[in-house]
Amino acid sequence: MLPFIDLAGQQQRLKAEIDAGIARVLAHGHYIMGPEVTELEHKLGQFCGAKHVITCSNGTDALMLMLMAKNVGAGDAVIVPSFTFCATAEAVALLGATPIFVDVLPDTFNIDPTSLDKALLVAKEQQLKPVGVLAVDLFGLPADYSALQTLCDAAGLWLLADAAQSFSGAIGHKKVGSLTEMTATSFFPAKPLGCYGDGGAVFTNDDDLAEVLRSLRVHGKGQHKYDNIRIGMNARLDTLQAAILLPKLAVLSEERERKQALADAYNAAFADFVQVPVMHADYVSAWAQYTLVLPESVNRDDVQAQLKAQGVPTAVYYPLPLHRQTAYQHFPVAGELSVSETMAARVLSLPMHAYMNEASQKLIIGAMQHTLNNSMRQIGSQRIA
Ligand SMILES: *Cc1c(COP(=O)(O)O)cnc(C)c1O
Repeated sequence: MLPFIDLAGQQQRLKAEIDAGIARVLAHGHYIMGPEVTELEHKLGQFCGAKHVITCSNGTDALMLMLMAKNVGAGDAVIVPSFTFCATAEAVALLGATPIFVDVLPDTFNIDPTSLDKALLVAKEQQLKPVGVLAVDLFGLPADYSALQTLCDAAGLWLLADAAQSFSGAIGHKKVGSLTEMTATSFFPAKPLGCYGDGGAVFTNDDDLAEVLRSLRVHGKGQHKYDNIRIGMNARLDTLQAAILLPKLAVLSEERERKQALADAYNAAFADFVQVPVMHADYVSAWAQYTLVLPESVNRDDVQAQLKAQGVPTAVYYPLPLHRQTAYQHFPVAGELSVSETMAARVLSLPMHAYMNEASQKLIIGAMQHTLNNSMRQIGSQRIA
C-alpha cells in the first residue's frame, strides 16, 4: 500500500538537521520557551508577513487563544462553516458561546459569504449577539477573505481565520497569516507544516492583541509569571517542537511547489471524470489534502475498496458535516446547508505529499481512472437495463 501522507520521506531528507536541533535543546535544557521558540516565531513572521507570531500548544488552543483575545463568551454567536474539522466549532462552544453553522461553496469547500445574512437573522431569532466569523481554509485553500471582510465590516463583525490546513497558502502576494486580523494554524504532524507532536500558532499585526495573546498563553500573566491579570491557559509550544519545525519551515515553500505540480497532474488526469479542486486566479493552496467530488451516482465505498485493492489509500474528509454530529446538532443552522451535506456524501481525498515520486502518482492516477471507468460503466449499464 502506498502511503497516504509520507512523513518518512521528509524525515530522511532533514534527519541530520532535526537531530542536531534536538541535541542542541537537550544540551541547553531550556525546554519551555527556549531560544528555538523565539527563533521560530521570528522566522514564521518573516515567512508569512505577520508582525507578531505567538506559537502555542496546538491548533485548537490557537483557536481558543484568538477567541479569548476577542472576549468571546456566553450569549455570543460565532458564525462557522459546517463542513470542517470539529475543532473550529469546538473552540467556540468551549468558551460558552454558540456556533451558528453556515453552508460552504460547492467549488472551494469554503464558507459561502452570501450565507452570513441568514446567520445574522438566526442569531436575532435566538437572541444571541453575533460577534464574528471564523472562516476555515479547507484542504489548504484560503477562504474568500476580501468578500468576507467587506460583509463583516458592514455588519460590525470581526473576521478570524482557522488556517490549520493552509499555512504556506496565499491570496496574491499576501500569505496565510496576514490575511485577517488574527489567524490560527496547527503544526499537527500531518498538516502542511507539522512537528513531531502537537503545536500551533496565532498570527497578528495588532500590537495590543499580540500582548493579550502572549499573556493568555501563560496563565494570563501580567508583568511576570506570578502577576495574574486575566484567566488564561497553559498553551506554550515545546522548545523541542520549535527545534524540529525550524528545518521543516526552511523547505516549506519548496514542498508546497512540489505538491502544486502533483495537484496539476491530478487535475489534468481527472477533470473529465469528476469535480477537481478549483484554482481561482491569485489563490495559492497549501494542499493539505487533494480532494475530489465524485458524481452522485458513483458509490464512494466501492471506489475506496477498489482503490485499496490496487494499493491506493484514500480518505474521506469529512463524512458528516458538523451540524449533524451528536455533540453539535443542537446548535443553530443558517438554512439547509445542502452543499455541506452533498460534500460530506461525495468527497474523496487522494494521497498528497511532497515526497511522492512520479511512478507512485502514475500508479494512483491509473488506479483511479480504472476504478472510475468501472463505476461509471456499471451505472451506464444499469441505466440501459
Ligand atoms: C487540524 C485542525 C484543527 C486543530 O488543530 P490541532 O493542532 O489538531 O488542535 C482545527 N481546525 C482545522 C480545520 C483543522 O484541520
